[in-house]
Amino acid sequence: MAHVVIVGGGLAGCDCAWQLAEAGVSVTLFEMKPEKRSEAHTEDGLAELVCSNSFRATGPAAAIGLLKEEMERLGSLVMEAAFATRVPAGGALAVDRNLFSDYITEKIEGHEAITVVRREIASLDDEALAGADAVVIAAGPLASPDLTESLMAAVGDARLYFYDAIAPIVSRDSVDFDKAFWGSRWKPEDDDYLNCPMSEAEYKAFVAALLEGEKVKPREFEKEVHFEACLPVEAMAERGEMTLAFGPLKPVGFTDPRTGERPFAIVQLRTENADKTAFNLVGFQTKLKYPEQKRIFRMIPGLENAEFLRLGSIHRNTYVNAPEVLDETLQLKNRPGTYLAGQITGVEGYLESAACGLWLGLSLGRRLRGEAVIDPPVETALGALMNHLRTKPDKQFQPSNVNFGLMPGLEGRIKKKFRKEAYGQRAQAAFAAWIEAAGL
Ligand code: FAD
Repeated sequence: MAHVVIVGGGLAGCDCAWQLAEAGVSVTLFEMKPEKRSEAHTEDGLAELVCSNSFRATGPAAAIGLLKEEMERLGSLVMEAAFATRVPAGGALAVDRNLFSDYITEKIEGHEAITVVRREIASLDDEALAGADAVVIAAGPLASPDLTESLMAAVGDARLYFYDAIAPIVSRDSVDFDKAFWGSRWKPEDDDYLNCPMSEAEYKAFVAALLEGEKVKPREFEKEVHFEACLPVEAMAERGEMTLAFGPLKPVGFTDPRTGERPFAIVQLRTENADKTAFNLVGFQTKLKYPEQKRIFRMIPGLENAEFLRLGSIHRNTYVNAPEVLDETLQLKNRPGTYLAGQITGVEGYLESAACGLWLGLSLGRRLRGEAVIDPPVETALGALMNHLRTKPDKQFQPSNVNFGLMPGLEGRIKKKFRKEAYGQRAQAAFAAWIEAAGL
């Protein structure tokens, strides 16, 4: 029986372990918690969600929706757990993070082909990795410093850093329901989101406070490069007074029940758990200092007395220059037998990380059994995401969420409003054909 060692029991590590184990490969999964934790992990379970509890949109008109369908079809444990622990979130898929982690932990620990060892692997030369048929490093964007150093020594100086920022969470009890109201965009009857409406004067005072608020300074060894899809709220405010009002605070589709009018801006709070006792501030990832967050975010109408269950913060994100250091099987070019999976490869996002782990587990399992592997075509969400890791960019390699921009353009002239559907239909057809050809 082939044996694979996986380092990191996060989203990628768990989906990778599951695929390998289901293919009859014996797996040892090393997870450093609870002995040691990154600056963002706080729980003991596997597959911990360190920030939002949302897996974003569903349905084939969004690339992330397609990725979900594809992962589900390929037997993703992460998708199985997500559906089993789902909480209401309009058209999005969100989960109760504790139940989600419990579900995966139980499945992984209960699988007869998987052994979970709770200890840090501090070096690629650790003797626990010797003798395995393959080693998978799935230690995430906050991989322990010693392991990061060992990995970086192995890949040379082809490494990059940037910040991710966490959004704060407030307790439901502390929200003023005389001001905040329920409803999704265009759907006042939905009760998945809470909305805090702002007048023009309140909005402008808020933006001014964001600009003046004291921020955490980047550490010397870290470069300050923000990922466009996860910009800190104050960085967005710096781009212009109206940037937030046209971005995460856009009021389109809402009517304030108190006034019967559209507010000037709106702050959305997303359900954080199944019993709706906690809400996160959508788009409010931030580098503001803790006391400043409390002061400034309490300027939001309805949050004057907010109790912050978690404050926002900034975090390191470690990933390799994948097109330079990985081959098409996700193996380190200069260290055969060692593979990377998850965010550390340069995919970005919970599901993208899980999908990367899933694909590595599935393809590696087949290779270890001497079976042929056909890569998913770039027209599919999974294929497009994996192709991103192989594509040398004109400038600096950047992490990416799955999106239609990673897929080849559509042929022929298609009206703008039908394009997303067209991408979705093409992806579904390509995926179905691939599944058949690949014998999956
Ligand atoms: P992780 O889920 O982080 O798993 C890595 C695991 O490896 C951890 O359990 C860790 O304890 C373990 N580990 C690390 N080093 C070692 C070692 N040396 N030995 C043994 N075990 C080790 N994505 C989103 O889609 N939405 C978000 O809201 C979001 N917020 C984020 C917030 C922060 C602060 C960060 C850093 C990232 C965020 N991401 C978010 C991006 C990313 O999708 C997640 O980090 C995702 O969890 C990555 O999955 P992964 O499996 O690669 O790593």
